[in-house]
Amino acid sequence: MSRKKKRKLNALGKLLVIIIILIVVIFIMKNTIFKNKNDKNENNNTNTDNNENITEKYNITNEKESDSDVIDTIFEEGMATDDYIKILTQKPNYINSSGNYQQETYNFDKKLHYSEIEEMLTNMNNSSIASVEIIGKSVDGRNIYGVEVGKGNKVLYLDADVHAAEIANTLILMRFLSEIINEYENGNEEIVNALNTVKIAVIPTMNPDGYEVYNYGVESLNNKDLWWYEKKDEINFENIKSNANGVDLNRNFPTQNTGMYYVGKKLISNTSLEKTTKDGKYFNGYAVGSEPETKAAMYFMLKHYKNVYAYINMHSQGRVIYAGKPNLSDEFNSLTASFGKKVSTYNNYRVHGLSAEEVGEGNDGSVTDFMAELANGFVFSTKTGRLSTDKYIDNSATFDYKYPVITMETITTYTTNPNTFKEEYYNHGLRSLLFDLLDPNF
Ligand SMILES: [Zn+2]
Repeated sequence: MSRKKKRKLNALGKLLVIIIILIVVIFIMKNTIFKNKNDKNENNNTNTDNNENITEKYNITNEKESDSDVIDTIFEEGMATDDYIKILTQKPNYINSSGNYQQETYNFDKKLHYSEIEEMLTNMNNSSIASVEIIGKSVDGRNIYGVEVGKGNKVLYLDADVHAAEIANTLILMRFLSEIINEYENGNEEIVNALNTVKIAVIPTMNPDGYEVYNYGVESLNNKDLWWYEKKDEINFENIKSNANGVDLNRNFPTQNTGMYYVGKKLISNTSLEKTTKDGKYFNGYAVGSEPETKAAMYFMLKHYKNVYAYINMHSQGRVIYAGKPNLSDEFNSLTASFGKKVSTYNNYRVHGLSAEEVGEGNDGSVTDFMAELANGFVFSTKTGRLSTDKYIDNSATFDYKYPVITMETITTYTTNPNTFKEEYYNHGLRSLLFDLLDPNF
């Protein structure tokens, strides 16, 4: 063997030793990281185990796994148990009344600043039939409100504008609420009777920063360090969906299926794991339940979900009703489908049902997923950091709280023009639908 060859072999040998050492080091490091991750989970479990009352009282478990294998490939961690408990134990924060109720006259006459909506809500709160609560704050520091109108314990649950540019229903719901309260104050017998039986629970806008920025531009942001402002030259605010952190709130809820979508019954990872300024791409957030707007909505849903008789989550992208969840029971889906059909008799909106193509890529972790999974008896699992179940895609599962949950897309285009909303409210069946929904046997 030539000297040259020998030297070459020696060098190869050294290289081999270095590679082996590297592999060993990486292996040890990896194990340490995993061990830390497990320790963290164990800590979470210990925290909750230490306080059995809390886990029992709030029905939190560390046993349910659902699809945790799939979940692990998407998010390293779900929502922290402590964060979830914080929402469960959040105290109501009703605003004080500040005088007598004045008849509300707003009838889509003009655009409204969010501060003007807040003034309307303050006035509504002066009526004895309405209670307005601050349920959380947006990333840019705006109050998020939960409105309750009525004395009954059967709840009609409505919310709007989870997507920034879909502001139509905020004004539609403000008009509806003011009509109801005006009529109650005027002693309209039908309305008085209805509101003695039911309660309307409403979040007029779940994304107040989005509402203001879509209406009045990105300079409306108070905090110029927010992601929206940083990326303002790249983002198309004409059809913006996210919150000011760039998270699609309607993909951020800690549900069984967040970050995934279905092809048939097979769960597939959602690819939108990075923030994006591009249209039509959804970003779930770096962890489920990460956004303050998400937490505020979760609080209000957890407060009411046991008493709901119908839930409509309102968007405004094309006169469509989504009535079906592939991961939920047949019982839930048939109830929801017939409700969706009935709603469409008012407005002729197209009803989409169950199939994966119809539900769409990344259409999970939504507001309606959270409510529907709660209604179907899913519980928060410390293993997955989200709502989970052992009855994974069990079509024959029964559920405790039997009410329909739909998403309803009103109007046809993105616009800030309140005339369009007025047209939809009066001439496309929304007003009569909302009034008829005051009947719990709808
Ligand atoms: Zn939407």
